Amino acid sequence: MSTTITERVDELPPAEQAIVTEIATACRILAAHGCSPGIGGHVSVRAPGQDAFFINSFHLTFDEITPADVMKLGFDGSARHGRHRVSPGWEFHAGIYQQRRDVDAVVHTHAFWVTALSSLNRPLKMRHNLCTFFFEKMAVSPDDTFEQIGPALADANSILIPFHGAVTVDRSLGRAAALMLNLEDMARLDVTLEATQAPPMPDERCPALRTLVDEVAGYLELTWELHRRKVMLPW
Ligand SMILES: [Zn+2]
Repeated sequence: MSTTITERVDELPPAEQAIVTEIATACRILAAHGCSPGIGGHVSVRAPGQDAFFINSFHLTFDEITPADVMKLGFDGSARHGRHRVSPGWEFHAGIYQQRRDVDAVVHTHAFWVTALSSLNRPLKMRHNLCTFFFEKMAVSPDDTFEQIGPALADANSILIPFHGAVTVDRSLGRAAALMLNLEDMARLDVTLEATQAPPMPDERCPALRTLVDEVAGYLELTWELHRRKVMLPW
């Protein structure tokens, strides 16, 4: 393994330059959607074919992140590209990539409504067609450590971390980020209705609705493209 740590984006191969740009774009999108209330939260992408991943610097808010603020870390935490402040939460990204070969992107935020939902200490209730992305695909972690998050996540696409926030995972950053944007909206609906007697959708309706919104409508991919169009301004 090379010990050389690159510093500038233009020192990366083109495919990796595209990844750091995509991460910075996702950070900007999440910030525009109110998912970045302050310092904290991370967006990462697996480095293809390597025991490593790209992740945003910890000391900046999502709306401040540019491609130059994205670093590459080995699964052991060693720096491979960029010399930035590393979040204490880097370990669960490395853990998830090693545990889930089907996952190539991880998004973690402390978005307000996501965090409010997490503090109810239960999965999202099915109160909208778009909730069905999380039907039987959302876990709740006993605490903030990867020792608990890893086994609790299992094959889910999302996990609530009570009194903290949530993590979404998927095969692409566009899908993982769109899942988080959707979760913030669905969490707002769920928490707002919590004090009422409004019943959630019957479970038996959920699998077909998820197929419709995901596989037929392509909602996550369209959501990612929508938000890319909205935030694509010069860095
Ligand atoms: Zn956190």
